[in-house]
Amino acid sequence: MSAIPEPKEFSALADQALAKLRAGNERFVSGEARFPTVCKETLADLARGQSPFATILGCSDSRVPPELIFDANFGELFIVRVAGNVVSPEVMGSLQYAGAHLRTPLFLVLGHEGCGAIKAALACKFGGVQERSRIQTLINNILPGLPDFGDEVPESARLTSAIEANVRWSMRQLLETPEGQNAQRLGARFLGAVYEISTARVRFLE
Ligand SMILES: [Zn+2]
Repeated sequence: MSAIPEPKEFSALADQALAKLRAGNERFVSGEARFPTVCKETLADLARGQSPFATILGCSDSRVPPELIFDANFGELFIVRVAGNVVSPEVMGSLQYAGAHLRTPLFLVLGHEGCGAIKAALACKFGGVQERSRIQTLINNILPGLPDFGDEVPESARLTSAIEANVRWSMRQLLETPEGQNAQRLGARFLGAVYEISTARVRFLE
């Protein structure tokens, strides 16, 4: 086992990881994605273990596969996908595993344009629409992070704003845990982003 890096060193690794994600999305957008292939040697490496450089909490939506939009190879990204990129105990467990055992320096919460889970949560909050049992459980998880909108805010703007707010809500829940705070102290970086389906671009949130 390698030595645990100093916080400064670890946060430099987080910066490198972010640069890799940005560069990968740039290749994807410009049609220069490498698309991973495997050979005997890489398979042997992968069979020995994993050492991903980033952890991503993303949505299950079929249009938002992180490996493709970041042009990442096998073994590079540790990914949890769940509708609405919501945080639940199992999600937290997977992310904690990524932090404690895989020691990924970067955690990215990735929402996306046109997210159906967020649309449903808005319909619930502002229209009283109830979904089927388990779906509603998921929606209930999103509701506390939704903004309050005045009547003047049009529907399209509501969705855009709610998608971003939901990313921040998931991040907040992660960062408020003792594990999240400890990870930050050790130099890990938590970041939010929104994938724009119509342009294939990832917009990182400040
Ligand atoms: Zn979605």
